[in-house]
Amino acid sequence: MKRRFVNPFKIQGSWFKGNVHTHSVASDGTKTSEELVEMYRGAGYHFLSITDHSIVLDISELDGNGLLLIPGGEMCVGRSEVGTTYHIVALGVVENLPFKDFDHDVDPQDIIDHTNAVGGISIIAHPYWSGLNHGDLMKLSGYNGVEIYNMSCEYERNTGLSGSYIDGMIAAGKEPYIYAVDDQHAAGREQVPIDACGAWINVKTESLSVKNILDALKKGHFYSSTGPEIKDISIDGDGVISVECSPVRYISFVSTPSLGMKFHAEGEPLTNAVYPGRPGETYVRVEVTDYEGRTAWSNPIYNS
Ligand SMILES: [Zn+2]
Ligand SMILES: [Zn+2]
Repeated sequence: MKRRFVNPFKIQGSWFKGNVHTHSVASDGTKTSEELVEMYRGAGYHFLSITDHSIVLDISELDGNGLLLIPGGEMCVGRSEVGTTYHIVALGVVENLPFKDFDHDVDPQDIIDHTNAVGGISIIAHPYWSGLNHGDLMKLSGYNGVEIYNMSCEYERNTGLSGSYIDGMIAAGKEPYIYAVDDQHAAGREQVPIDACGAWINVKTESLSVKNILDALKKGHFYSSTGPEIKDISIDGDGVISVECSPVRYISFVSTPSLGMKFHAEGEPLTNAVYPGRPGETYVRVEVTDYEGRTAWSNPIYNS
């Protein structure tokens, strides 16, 4: 079986940890950009994108103090079948997007196209929380990825996990990269913990710069996590996929509807699994989940 995968585990470079969906007091967040920098830097992050609604923060005056800042924003536009808006996160945009936010008459495709035209990338945010159905998602093209996990939606509404939406899209021919993000608002109120520093991407690149991170995201040189570490993914000449990871309870090979395979730890935690694939599969993506339910997600591996 021949596989097609931009494998970040087999290229030169170092891993850099970042969150690419965050809000500050410039929109509906509760922390200033300076406070966000301190929080993420203190938690060991290498980069952060503050993606406020309607406004792309001018980060030229903001001292990251070692934390790389990537300019970005989020727009809520269009109309899904049930009447909600699409939320589109744009990274690598330095000026405000020339569209009216929270406007049902703005086409989300125009946000994606504009972001591509100025050299950035766009991500479809939290499909489950947004109420986007399969048809809503299939209308869009040209984006870089889709959020499989949004910590804020999960903590606030229990609607943060969008894996089934993404698998529906891939089964129908789309090829998105997969993102886990905080979408941090840091409300932090009784019985709702603060939605910060809990979902991130690990990006492989030569060195830490805005250009290098964006280029790596464009190529898919990253994976997502809320805890576990994927240490290696290897694919041999017969298409057999081998995964190595930190100790986990499950290693899953999520695939074409009704196919794929899940391995369960029996006694000792799992740290590796080997999967040859099954006839009829068109793609496989790796999910590893630890005993606390925290998960890491690879980008999809396609059969070619
Ligand atoms: Zn949103
Ligand atoms: Zn957001």
